[in-house]
Amino acid sequence: MATGILDIDLGAIARNWRALDAMSTAETSAVVKADAYGLGLSRVAPALAAAGARRFFVAVAEEGVTLRGILGHAPEIFILGGHMAGDTQALRDARLVPMLNAPEQVARHRDSLPDAPFGIQLDTGMNRLGLEPADWAALRDGPSPVLVMSHLACADEPGHPQNAAQLRSFREMTAEVSAPLSLAATGGILLGPDYHFDLTRPGVGLYGGLPFEAAEPVARLALPVIQVREIAAGESVGYGASFVAGRPERIATVSGGYADGLLRSQSGRGHLYAGNIACPIAGRVSMDLIGVVVTHLDTVPDRLDMLGPHQGVDAVADAAGTIGYEVLTSLGARYHRRYTG
Ligand SMILES: *Cc1c(COP(=O)(O)O)cnc(C)c1O
Repeated sequence: MATGILDIDLGAIARNWRALDAMSTAETSAVVKADAYGLGLSRVAPALAAAGARRFFVAVAEEGVTLRGILGHAPEIFILGGHMAGDTQALRDARLVPMLNAPEQVARHRDSLPDAPFGIQLDTGMNRLGLEPADWAALRDGPSPVLVMSHLACADEPGHPQNAAQLRSFREMTAEVSAPLSLAATGGILLGPDYHFDLTRPGVGLYGGLPFEAAEPVARLALPVIQVREIAAGESVGYGASFVAGRPERIATVSGGYADGLLRSQSGRGHLYAGNIACPIAGRVSMDLIGVVVTHLDTVPDRLDMLGPHQGVDAVADAAGTIGYEVLTSLGARYHRRYTG
């Protein structure tokens, strides 16, 4: 096999959901936008439903239609992007609940689907999506939403003063609301019960990423070694000749590159693993290939791990100068994907 092998542990995803559910005083939903953070909606969503999730969030209506086809009629599916122009038929046919986030969306929903359920998204300080207090006050005499939510901008930093400020603002804006309330994603669950309200919305923690430090890793990615070569001191590896050997080295060339979502910013910084032994990336990550220093290995294995027990998504993210979310959602389409659990 010449492509990387991506093993995805559905049992670990289910256990991560249950662990977050056990920490939460509210009902726990599951956020499965972006193809379940790159891990495969059609396999991940049923595993989460089997673990006990009854409510799901995706970003856009198109994802909601796909998810409805996967999960059948029972679960409630919320659309974080709300009701966009052109969404009406999809929302109606797949019975999706848009989280309306601006006055124009509220008007669009009332005009086109007056009897269909909707949720409301409030802005409590992130200034991304959500109604401002005045827009929200103007709506209070209309039909009732089935869920009122907001989103925290800094929940991965427990000491950040914006968390408490957004909590206060959410409480003020929902003081007279009888609908269920939701504020916390993964980070908000970890901030404690004050943040949980009626429904929590974990995403990244289900998939093994920070800020859920106790998460079980979910993904393992092994890249096949295509060839091994010896180079002399002074020879270079890869585009731009950015790696120059200071002594004789053994270089493994593995199959996988930035076309597979292995971020090019790891060039010269990241590592792959042979068992528990770190092997530095030599020079630039190219589209389909990466050079790796394996001089220090007694034997070069058939595959080197990019993700595994010794290097999780957040360690790779550190080397690439990004966050675990981007490492996960970049996982490429060429891998041979195997699901366990
Ligand atoms: C993506 C998202 C979530 C899930 O966030 P995580 O940090 O991955 O747990 C929850 N709510 C909203 C509004 C989101 O955009």
